[in-house]
Amino acid sequence: MAKQASIQLKNLTKEYVTHEGTGTFLAVDHINVDIASGQFVTLLGPSGCGKTTTLRMIAGFEGISDGEILLDGVRINELTPDKRDSSMVFQSYALFPHYDVYDNVGYGLVNKKMDKKTIEEKVMKMLDLVGLKGMEHRMPNQLSGGQQQRVALARALVMEPAVLLFDEPLSNLDAKLRVYMRTEIRKIQQRIGITSVYVTHDQSEAMALSDKVIIMNGGKIEQVGSPTEIYQYPASHFVADFIGSANFVPARVKSVSSQGTKLESKAGPGMEIGTAVVEMFGQEFTAKCIQGELAAGDTVEVVIRPEAIELADDGDVKAEVTSSTYMGQMQDYVVQVGDQELVTQTYNPSSKKVYNPGDTVYLRIQRESLHAIKK
Ligand code: ATP
Repeated sequence: MAKQASIQLKNLTKEYVTHEGTGTFLAVDHINVDIASGQFVTLLGPSGCGKTTTLRMIAGFEGISDGEILLDGVRINELTPDKRDSSMVFQSYALFPHYDVYDNVGYGLVNKKMDKKTIEEKVMKMLDLVGLKGMEHRMPNQLSGGQQQRVALARALVMEPAVLLFDEPLSNLDAKLRVYMRTEIRKIQQRIGITSVYVTHDQSEAMALSDKVIIMNGGKIEQVGSPTEIYQYPASHFVADFIGSANFVPARVKSVSSQGTKLESKAGPGMEIGTAVVEMFGQEFTAKCIQGELAAGDTVEVVIRPEAIELADDGDVKAEVTSSTYMGQMQDYVVQVGDQELVTQTYNPSSKKVYNPGDTVYLRIQRESLHAIKK
């Protein structure tokens, strides 16, 4: 088991002076985050949302304009990166090209003036952990991208930090290897139980890796939650749209009631899930919502995930198929209901009736998966 530490970001802020020197730019805007020890947390968001800046402030590579970073309750704002008990794995791997695998991994330990035998024990243990045993004398240019990233991971872990920071570490790998490496990273992290903060703009990576996802937009936090929570109960249009794909259907709230399920917060107090009866497609549906955000009479958008709509010969809502695409494990449809276009996905299409453009169909909507958000 690794050393473990909790991390707290309190009103953490980064204001850059713009290149012209004429003004300032708020890249990270008073964010509050609690990371429990041993948790794997992902900062997720589009390019420019402030996630890398946040990670670099935690690492100590970037100065802090306002707010605090606490490691196990102790303020670390003023500590230099080497004193922060964290190691970073970079997108570029940042390996030393003229050192072999063994020396790359052992570099930090040699710097710490550890004795040769201890270094050998620690390096070999790490190479075993990341699956590179037998490759200790290869040079970086004799390794695949995935192997180089394993070396980078071993080099970070061998220092036995309390916190592991990842800056888009899989971006340079091809799609298949990315998927493989992310499960490897998760396995290794769970095996040693190290607190990890991971930056990515890839939502499937964030979903697959994380205990908790922090969705950022324009320097602010949009939502914090487990992968399930952010998918099922998106707090905003932005989150619903960014995580997976979503149909947004305009609707009107008829009544709201409380359900009592508590979720992680946006940034502070706990969010509670309620239920709203909404009028959509001229019919009544029950949708979940964030408690306290909606009232009777409000105009809302109902989030309907593509997989929550099944096409059938009879059902709730009449529609016309405008596009039908076979994707192997699923059939993608686009259907039209009045002037509303909806995308749907039917899994395992070979066992189901397939519809074609021009067909009239009925939508069977999985009512328990509907979620209403304020417009
Ligand atoms: P990406 O996925 O593209 O790396 P990001 O979410 O990690 O994006 P950051 O790199 O944290 O975003 O940048 C946040 C914002 O701060 C961006 O608008 C960026 O242009 C700006 N920024 C970053 N570094 C500086 C700097 N040194 N000076 C001025 N502005 C900066």
